[in-house]
Amino acid sequence: MNRLPARPEIAAAQPYGAPHPDVPVRLNVNENPYPPPPEVVESIVTRVRRAAAGANRYPDRDFGELRSALADYLIRESGVVNIGPEMIWAANGSNEVLLHVLQAFGGPGRTVVAFEPTYSMYHEIARGTFTAWRPGRLEADFSLDAAHGIRHIDKVKPTVVLLPSPNAPTGTPLPLATIDAIADQTGGRAVVVVDEAYAEFRRPGRPSALQLLDKHPHLAVTRTMSKAFAAAGVRLGYLAAAPELVGYLRTVRLPYHLSAITQATALAALDHAGTMLGQVAELRERRDRLAAALAAMGFEVAASEANFVLFGRLADRHSVWEQLLARGVVIREVGPAGWLRVSVGSELETLTFLRALAEIRKELE
Ligand SMILES: *Cc1c(COP(=O)(O)O)cnc(C)c1O
Repeated sequence: MNRLPARPEIAAAQPYGAPHPDVPVRLNVNENPYPPPPEVVESIVTRVRRAAAGANRYPDRDFGELRSALADYLIRESGVVNIGPEMIWAANGSNEVLLHVLQAFGGPGRTVVAFEPTYSMYHEIARGTFTAWRPGRLEADFSLDAAHGIRHIDKVKPTVVLLPSPNAPTGTPLPLATIDAIADQTGGRAVVVVDEAYAEFRRPGRPSALQLLDKHPHLAVTRTMSKAFAAAGVRLGYLAAAPELVGYLRTVRLPYHLSAITQATALAALDHAGTMLGQVAELRERRDRLAAALAAMGFEVAASEANFVLFGRLADRHSVWEQLLARGVVIREVGPAGWLRVSVGSELETLTFLRALAEIRKELE
């Protein structure tokens, strides 16, 4: 039947990706609902025009200007002062950054660990890099028990540990003490990656794992412009770590992997970081109100510090997902059986979702 010599582990696999139906209310992939304002669009056009005029040349392979801008942004966002451009790496989305990490530190005969339920791309990047996938588990409330984490790591001896904080699709943050304990345990044996894709949505006062970089040369913190930064279309993810770790990522990337257009667009967006993040506080508050509304309707709700909420438990989640879709609302069928995930949208989108869900519930009764 198979007419092409595909690797057995991908022969029957489906490509990653949420269904993307063209409906009025799209709350399925955790985007920021607000498009860039006109002055940011203008800055992007100006920078891209300049880049286009030099498009006969390859771009800056080491994206020095962008690395400096990302380091400055992280310093301002986290309050951690000693982050320099030599500690920054970037690629086309933080998924590509994670691919570079596994190309450099995973590979055949090596193991990567994360704790499920978690971001499903981790497993796929492991498969793509021939790295064995040996996940541990989260507790019933989706927190990570540090003792279990350490025992699991001792048992399966990974070279890469992935710790999303907040986790997807649950929204659960990871205390700094847990990250620190796992990093203490893995020094010299594993690279520990804290995936902070949703960090800007964390509760005020909760520290970023960037604070631990000084202490652990094998720790890396990944971020993205796709979520809070309202620039999912730009495809720019990045990482902060000790320069030695970044050096290995440079070795495995494809030459000129970040186009001049991507670099110009990301720089323009970073010039307006305050504006791009302008609605984050509002989205955070709306997340808390959405979680409270779902709880008031009688659902179980996972405690979230991201821009989405996981709720359950549904006897037939697929049917609820379909009935929402029929009402013009798409959310995400992901995570443990019986749960669904909804992104925080605009006020109107969030209300439309809650009204549709209430209607469906009434029909089910
Ligand atoms: C969205 C997401 C990412 C990264 O997305 P990019 O668009 O590739 O930067 C990384 N990790 C988690 C947990 C995510 O949810």
